[in-house]
Amino acid sequence: MGKGKVYYKTEDEIGLLRESSLLVGKTLAEVAKMVKPGVTTLELDAVAEEFIRDNDAVPGFKGYGGFPNSLCTSVNAEVVHGIPNNRPLEEGDIVSVDCGVLKNGFYGDSAYTFAVGNISAEVEELLKVTKESLNLAIEQAIAGLRIGDIGYAVQNHAERHGYGVVRELVGHGLGRSLHESPEVPNYGRRGNGLKLREGLVLAIEPMINLGVKEVRQAEDGWTIVTADGLPSAHFEHDVVIRKGKAEVLSTFKWIEEVLKEK
Ligand code: MG
Ligand code: MG
Repeated sequence: MGKGKVYYKTEDEIGLLRESSLLVGKTLAEVAKMVKPGVTTLELDAVAEEFIRDNDAVPGFKGYGGFPNSLCTSVNAEVVHGIPNNRPLEEGDIVSVDCGVLKNGFYGDSAYTFAVGNISAEVEELLKVTKESLNLAIEQAIAGLRIGDIGYAVQNHAERHGYGVVRELVGHGLGRSLHESPEVPNYGRRGNGLKLREGLVLAIEPMINLGVKEVRQAEDGWTIVTADGLPSAHFEHDVVIRKGKAEVLSTFKWIEEVLKEK
């Protein structure tokens, strides 16, 4: 991924990407309704898959590179690419849920990290700062700036709080493929990298660790976990580069409406 052709989308294509991205937001809101102690990530996955198919789409991750499920569910020290399983979530856990859909030939891809019941103030702060780092990155995702400006925004904010910024996994272009060029690292130098042009659609996705930045792959061949076993958070939005201000195609609005009711 990340080395091929860069596709700039037409407004018609952006419309389809918006539809796919919004469906991911709605799917994650269905997941949000279920997240509580005792639920398993396989139960979340089943509901998400059914919801996606009921909305005339197909899960974007299922079968992608051989991934077995519709959601990536990464608990606590798991950073990304966790495989849903039968272990009930426990009070105080966090679970990062990454969801992709394919509809009308275009992908949507968005992620949100949920608290399971009450979590420690330390981990609450990690979630808050990770989401802030995503929003700061989106502020840099405008025509004329560069990929490095996005990465710098994430890295600067996260490291100011003493957190580790994962290097091995990055955001990406999004379109008819789930992972298009360019790569969108969560670290970088201002003014460096590909210049952003209108119509470029990016999935921006900070993965931020409470402790060290280093990660390793678990024995299942998929799950990425922190090297020190401390928790990690992940938030992801799909955005289109515009003049002056990015348009965010995905949304956390429905997720956060559900969470407010809890
Ligand atoms: Mg994702
Ligand atoms: Mg992604």
